[in-house]
Amino acid sequence: MADLTCPACGAKSGDGLLCSRCLSHLRSDLHTIAALLPELGAPLQRLGSGGGSTGYHSTVPITDAVSDARSVMGNDLVTWACELDMGDLDVTEHADLARWLAARVQRIRSHASADEIADAFYEDARLVSRLTDRRPDRRPVGQCACGKALTATLDASTTACSSCGTTYDVAGWVDARMDDAEDYWLTRDEIVTLLGVNRGTLRSWIHRELTPDADGRLRIGDVRRLMTRSA
Ligand SMILES: [Zn+2]
Ligand SMILES: [Zn+2]
Repeated sequence: MADLTCPACGAKSGDGLLCSRCLSHLRSDLHTIAALLPELGAPLQRLGSGGGSTGYHSTVPITDAVSDARSVMGNDLVTWACELDMGDLDVTEHADLARWLAARVQRIRSHASADEIADAFYEDARLVSRLTDRRPDRRPVGQCACGKALTATLDASTTACSSCGTTYDVAGWVDARMDDAEDYWLTRDEIVTLLGVNRGTLRSWIHRELTPDADGRLRIGDVRRLMTRSA
């Protein structure tokens, strides 16, 4: 009989549901969302409505990106809270919905779309962190000739060493490193961070044609082949 695996990360999971690591990530992502969402001056309307609304004082400028993010996250929270409601959904504000969900990760675990739910809140937690943090997500890309570790924002094409100022072409730099690393295996989170692959895309590759090892890790060469094909 084939080993059962976690639908989100592909690691071994006794009952084929979300593994304990993915579950604790999910819980902490939901707490992150609950804590930071009010800083975006989170949406004023309430679920099921009837009008009554309380506002939050926004600590970041309400740009289009912020209001788009609010509606994406609000939609995820409302959709999944309603889907998972077993008659005990007693909150309406978005941050409260995140807390309500965080207290019910076991219920999420047994849902057929558990991996999709985990991915949605993973993205949302990063999104709200990025928007409230005022420090963009950075990923490690290597080491400068001067010895200093190099990082770059996720979508940057170049990066400068914070110590000596030398500028590097990020894509070329990462490609050169990854050419030497074809046979290394990375976790799904590492693939997302280091190679910049979208989690949803990676999940569909795993469902279709990528085979993780027993720890849910993927071979860099296989992932890059698919990245090239879909570029
Ligand atoms: Zn997992
Ligand atoms: Zn340097």
